Amino acid sequence: MQTEVVFMDEAHIDEAVLAEAGRWIKQGELVAFPTETVYGLGGDALRADSSRKIYAAKNRPGDNPLIIHIAKWEDIYHICRDIPETAGKLAEAFWPGPLTMILKKQDIVPLETTGGMETVAVRLPGHAVARAFIEAAGGYVAAPSANVSGRPSPTLAKYVLEDMEGKIPLIIDGGPVGIGVESTIVDLTEEVPMILRPGFITREMLESVVGRVAEDRTMTEVLKDVAPKAPGMKYRHYAPKGNLTIVTGPGERVVDYINSACREAAARGKRTGVLCTVETMAQYRADSVKCVGTRADESTVAQGLYQMLRECDDEGLEVLFAESFPTEGIGQAIMNRLLKAAGHQVIQL
Ligand code: AMP
Ligand code: MG
Repeated sequence: MQTEVVFMDEAHIDEAVLAEAGRWIKQGELVAFPTETVYGLGGDALRADSSRKIYAAKNRPGDNPLIIHIAKWEDIYHICRDIPETAGKLAEAFWPGPLTMILKKQDIVPLETTGGMETVAVRLPGHAVARAFIEAAGGYVAAPSANVSGRPSPTLAKYVLEDMEGKIPLIIDGGPVGIGVESTIVDLTEEVPMILRPGFITREMLESVVGRVAEDRTMTEVLKDVAPKAPGMKYRHYAPKGNLTIVTGPGERVVDYINSACREAAARGKRTGVLCTVETMAQYRADSVKCVGTRADESTVAQGLYQMLRECDDEGLEVLFAESFPTEGIGQAIMNRLLKAAGHQVIQL
C-alpha cells in the first residue's frame, strides 16, 4: 500500500483532504492525524475490523485498549452509559483538550476497541485538525499513538511515516505537536476519580474541579504483583534501542557521574548519548549530547522528549544517560515516560 503524506495545519483546513480521510475510515482503513498531544493512528471505533487493523499495524498487544476520540460532547452518550456528573464538569473545564476519561461503555462499542473491557476511554482533542478529521470520519475514531508498539510516540509526521509506511493510505501532517506527551487518563468508573496515566492535566487541576482525585500508585513506582489499572501502562513503552539510565542527585555530581560513565563506555567501544537540558548541555562529553528542553519551562522538555529518544536510535547510540526532573506539574508525566523508557533503571547519587 502507498502511504500519502498531506500537510494540513490548524490555519489551513482542507475540505478535500478531510473528505478523502473520511472515505478511508469508512472503508475500514486507517489514517494518521495530528493531535495536541502526539500523532494518532485512527480507525472507525465502532468497527471491530478497524480496531483489529490498528493492533496489527502497531503490533500492539490485544489487551491494550484504544482511546475513542470524539469531536463534540453530545457524542459521548452514544458510546458511554451511566455518565457521572464529574464527567460533565471535567469536560467543561478541560475539553477540548489532553484529558481522557474512562467510563462504562455502550454495547455499540466493540470489545475489539476496548481490549475486551466493559469500560471505554474517551477524549475530545484540542487540535482543530483532529476534530475536523473525526467529524469527517463519522464522529468516533479509535486512535492510539501512531507508533509501532515499544517505540517512542511520534511528535512529527516523519516519525509516523517511519513506523507506518506501506501499512496505511494516508498521514495528515499537521507539523510538530504542541504538548508532546500523551493525554492524562482519569478513571471515572469508581467513586473517587483516579488518574491512571499522568499528562499535561495534573492532579491539582483535576482536584480544583471535582475535589479529591486518587492516583494509580503503579504510575511512578514499580510495585511487585500490582498491575497498573490502565493495561497499556504495564508495557515497556517509549523505549529507545540503546540502554538508558536516569541519573538523579545534585547537579554537579550528576554531570561528573555521566561524563565518567560515558568515558568508560566509550573505552568499551560503545557509542554514548546524554539527554539533558539547555542549562547543562555544555558540560557533557559524549558522542551525542541531546538538549531536550529548558528547566525554566518544563513543557519544552515534554515537547522534545520523544523526538530526542528517536534521534538516539537514528544515531545508533548504545549507552544513554538522562538527567531526572522534579515530579511536579508536567514533570510527573515527563518522569513517568522517562522511567518507562529506562525500564526503571535509575542511579541515585
Ligand atoms: P495510547 O492510545 O497509545 O496512548 O494508549 C491508550 C492508553 O489508554 C493505554 O495505556 C490503555 O491501557 C489506556 N486505556 C484505554 N482504555 C482503557 C480502559 N477502558 N481502562 C483503562 N485504561 C484504558
Ligand atoms: Mg501509545
